[in-house]
Amino acid sequence: MIRYSLTCDGGHGFDGWFRSSGDYDGQAGNGLLTCPVCGSREVSKALMSPAVATQAEAEQELLGDREARMREMLVKVREELTKDAEDVGPRFAEVARKMHDGEMEKASVYGVATGEETRELIEDGIEVHPLPPVPGKGN
Ligand SMILES: [Zn+2]
Repeated sequence: MIRYSLTCDGGHGFDGWFRSSGDYDGQAGNGLLTCPVCGSREVSKALMSPAVATQAEAEQELLGDREARMREMLVKVREELTKDAEDVGPRFAEVARKMHDGEMEKASVYGVATGEETRELIEDGIEVHPLPPVPGKGN
């Protein structure tokens, strides 16, 4: 059984059940379809439902595309920020502090710091730049 959304020439919408699309064509062709509201025999398939679905799908695609581009851009920004820098991982706060205190030669480093560590570094006047997180990646 397939269900069609039907509409009459009076604008009444209703559902009709058919064994197949050929069954619908046969009934419609023989004038066997009547509107349950006004009895009109001018009944046709409503085109509204598939059109709405198509539009929603298009919007979904557009959104996915925008998200993908955004992610791509953030990945590029991260690459740009980290390409000449050394990854010091969780030692970031320690290394940044040592460089600030002159115990280590200054270099571009990046790594992981907790919110607390980052706050302390900034309070001590040590320059830190948070890397933009890339959505969809565990980072
Ligand atoms: Zn009607």
